[in-house]
Amino acid sequence: MLEYEVGDIVTLKKGHPCGANEWEILRTGVDIKLKCIGCERMIWVSRMDFEKRVRKIKEEEKFVSIIHHKKKED
Ligand SMILES: [Zn+2]
Repeated sequence: MLEYEVGDIVTLKKGHPCGANEWEILRTGVDIKLKCIGCERMIWVSRMDFEKRVRKIKEEEKFVSIIHHKKKED
């Protein structure tokens, strides 16, 4: 299962038409709300779609493949 939460920065299989490919997760649930870091436009995608399209997640200062990402321990 993929681990991600609000505030995480991710990359998707395809970037945004503006040229950027970094997205901030604003909302999670049945649908995921994402904000493009390049142009600040917001989009909604279904969780299923998101999990198919997400590739990397920012951990500390670098991007790692989301399949290797573990949620931070509290
Ligand atoms: Zn954009």
